[in-house]
Amino acid sequence: MEYKTIQSNAQKSVALVAHDNMKASLIEWTNTHIEQLRNHQLYATGTTGALIAKQTGLSVSQLISGPLGGDQQIGALITEQKIDVLIFFWDPLEAQPHDPDVKALLRLAAVWNIPVACNIASADLLITSSLFGQVFERKVPDYQRYISSRT
Ligand code: PGA
Repeated sequence: MEYKTIQSNAQKSVALVAHDNMKASLIEWTNTHIEQLRNHQLYATGTTGALIAKQTGLSVSQLISGPLGGDQQIGALITEQKIDVLIFFWDPLEAQPHDPDVKALLRLAAVWNIPVACNIASADLLITSSLFGQVFERKVPDYQRYISSRT
């Protein structure tokens, strides 16, 4: 695979997802960092997004619920380079009915070189990085070069 460098804007598109047992932690985290998050565009799976919007007042683009396909919607947005950061508090202690979707989302985040935080400590480190509010370069697969080398 060939790679190219793209830029994330200073205003990031941040995807927020939390499994049921982790939703309280994610809401607490969004409240802790509410001033920073106000500067960015937020996306979330359905229930996570509804709770964050209600309990923090932040504006969140809400997708469908995770088990109904919301994780896959976020994955699709990542492939379209419409998501810059993924905050995904998945539950390490409980099996999920949509486990294949969870794995698929984490896989696409790795493929597209998206910064991912799966717990509070990582999310704290990410959002307090000076790069969070700046233009940020990352390498992504260059599909155009890939396809033209094979056709
Ligand atoms: P939810 O989905 O925000 O709709 O609960 C999260 C998930 O389980 O992926």
